[in-house]
Amino acid sequence: MATTSPIYCHLCNETMAPGEDLEHHLVYSHKPRELATELASEWEAEELGDAM
Ligand SMILES: [Zn+2]
Repeated sequence: MATTSPIYCHLCNETMAPGEDLEHHLVYSHKPRELATELASEWEAEELGDAM
């Protein structure tokens, strides 16, 4: 059972190639600021979702 669901980047919606590391992709393809913005909006959305 070697079914690994493809990992994809939430920032650019690119699927990671087999053996490609999402962390590596994030570091080399995106700026820290992009990552921070994405994370912030996700976490804020979660918080708001809980509060409602
Ligand atoms: Zn990406």
